[in-house]
Amino acid sequence: MAGRQFQQGDALLLLDVQRDFFEGGTTPVPDGEEIIPVLNDWISDARERRIPIIAVRDWHSAYHSSFRDVGGEWPVHCVQDTPGSFFHPALRLPHDAIIVSKGTAFDDTCHSAFRHTGLANFLRERGIRRLWIGGVIEEIGVRQTVEEAREAGFEVCVIEDGVRPLDPRAEADARDAMRQAGARLERRPEPVHTSD
Ligand SMILES: [Zn+2]
Repeated sequence: MAGRQFQQGDALLLLDVQRDFFEGGTTPVPDGEEIIPVLNDWISDARERRIPIIAVRDWHSAYHSSFRDVGGEWPVHCVQDTPGSFFHPALRLPHDAIIVSKGTAFDDTCHSAFRHTGLANFLRERGIRRLWIGGVIEEIGVRQTVEEAREAGFEVCVIEDGVRPLDPRAEADARDAMRQAGARLERRPEPVHTSD
């Protein structure tokens, strides 16, 4: 179906699909495991169609200012090069995925993939006009990434069944805000069954 699949000028952006945000991590989103096979399907489509795959990761220093023990509001999470910062082990990221790190400075508490990363220019220089976005945390990092992608002039499709909130009660508001920013929420088209 037109608009529901990759085309030239698209990129797939996966946000924070890291161990600490999933089962066994310090800040797990409920039912997060369910999005992994969904994202893997999108990854395999993207590879087939040579669509760039961008994996954004939260990449904090120890003592990052967002952590509770230094006065922030978050449990320690995604500390650079520790197991919690690794991509989800079942995520089938290809070796040539473009890795983007965010939140690396002690005082950089931004959750968006676009803040202080240079990502918008990187994408523009490569002719990317539309982003398909999946990952976590829906009401925080995903929402802010979607809003800033829109502000930067990109078309945005949120992979509806490929995102998860930390607080399920916050999901409806997050989705309204993303739609209001001009993003579309999309699912993969159902496979077409033909009868004979
Ligand atoms: Zn963080």
